[in-house]
Amino acid sequence: MSLIVQKYGGTSVGTVERIQEVAKKLIKFQKEGHELVVVLSAMSGETNRLLALANELNDNPHGRELDVLLSTGEQVTIALLCLALEQQGIHAISYTGSQVKILTDNTHNKARIMEIDDEKIRKELDAGHIVIVAGFQGCDQEGNITTLGRGGSDTTAVALAAALKADECQIYTDVDGVYTTDPRVVSEARRLDHITFEEMLEMASLGAKVLQIRSVEFASKYNVPLRVLSSFTEGGGTLISVEDPKMEQALISGIAFNRDEAKLTVLGVPDHPGIAYQILGPIAKNNIEVDMIIQNTGHDGLTDFTFTIHRNDYKNARTILQSTADSLGAREVIGDEHIAKISVVGVGMRSHAGIASTMFESLAKESINISMISTSEIKISVVIDEKYLELGVRSLHKAFHLEQN
Ligand code: ADP
Ligand code: ASP
Ligand code: MG
Repeated sequence: MSLIVQKYGGTSVGTVERIQEVAKKLIKFQKEGHELVVVLSAMSGETNRLLALANELNDNPHGRELDVLLSTGEQVTIALLCLALEQQGIHAISYTGSQVKILTDNTHNKARIMEIDDEKIRKELDAGHIVIVAGFQGCDQEGNITTLGRGGSDTTAVALAAALKADECQIYTDVDGVYTTDPRVVSEARRLDHITFEEMLEMASLGAKVLQIRSVEFASKYNVPLRVLSSFTEGGGTLISVEDPKMEQALISGIAFNRDEAKLTVLGVPDHPGIAYQILGPIAKNNIEVDMIIQNTGHDGLTDFTFTIHRNDYKNARTILQSTADSLGAREVIGDEHIAKISVVGVGMRSHAGIASTMFESLAKESINISMISTSEIKISVVIDEKYLELGVRSLHKAFHLEQN
């Protein structure tokens, strides 16, 4: 008998009819002889609805009480699914994150899972029951409810699979796997049968929101075989696992993009040792994450310094940078809230030259200006004007022939 952890996302449990479909699937899997632990998201749109309510009453809803609010979405779906199964004569039991002891740190709204007590779950499985767990939530040492950040149900599922040493962790969603790029943007995007943890980590961190990045980190660390599948159609989906040296690696696996970025530049700062620290130190102290950084070659004792941040942090970061610039006697601070990042990702890049020039040529042909570039062993990212994002992604998809097998 194999133990499978399955996660159903928001659209997969978005209506009573969809929950009914999930119940039917579970009954089928159980009949096939699988032990099942099922993680659910809130109904699609519910987490956003709750956030909007909070915003009506508070300028900056955050922390403990926001977690108490947001965690309710998942409590609804786990109970409904159990009721649907009960109606079919199937024994299932639902648990919230704190009931099943998904212990996290106390970073509200973005907590990290530290430990899972699997005793209760094992007992229920041994009794032949299906165990349904609320995704996206846990509790800290003091018993406060915490949430794991948007998309966090993926991470709940992988963490449970790791704790229970499940045979596979299956993420059911509204696409039938991981594609070469977001199929909503490029209709020619192709489903991948297989992608490595390393590539999926880059794809997720560079904007492909099909999996929360922490779920991929977890799966990679504990070597949990992870599969992305559709809850609407049949099929094998995409397997995410370690790199297989026997398998020929594609040059480029996919294209990720992110439109949630903004750029800040300080012009004419004195070019002396410690300048990067003086500029970025106050930004980091305010818990603002910096992504790309560029410092120009100095001339006449002055230099220019540019970095990117999340768009939500733009106003805050600009104020901090302006005060640093004033104290350093810099010439000017400029910024752009309408940038986007496109990245090409592939382990095949390690052994092939020329990827960057193909990328730059393709963007040049569309007259898309690149304002920043950053590279790592398996990815190249560029920052461009947001309005050319779709055009850029489509032209790169074509340039690397990703629509072909
Ligand atoms: P769920 O609610 O099931 O967690 P999400 O909306 O979080 O679903 O993730 C699925 C979505 O991710 C898809 O509908 C798709 O638009 C988007 N997506 C972005 N990049 C990719 C990609 N490379 N492959 C597949 N889907 C992608
Ligand atoms: N419901 C949460 C969200 O919308 C968690 C999840 O769906 O994974 O972000
Ligand atoms: Mg998701």
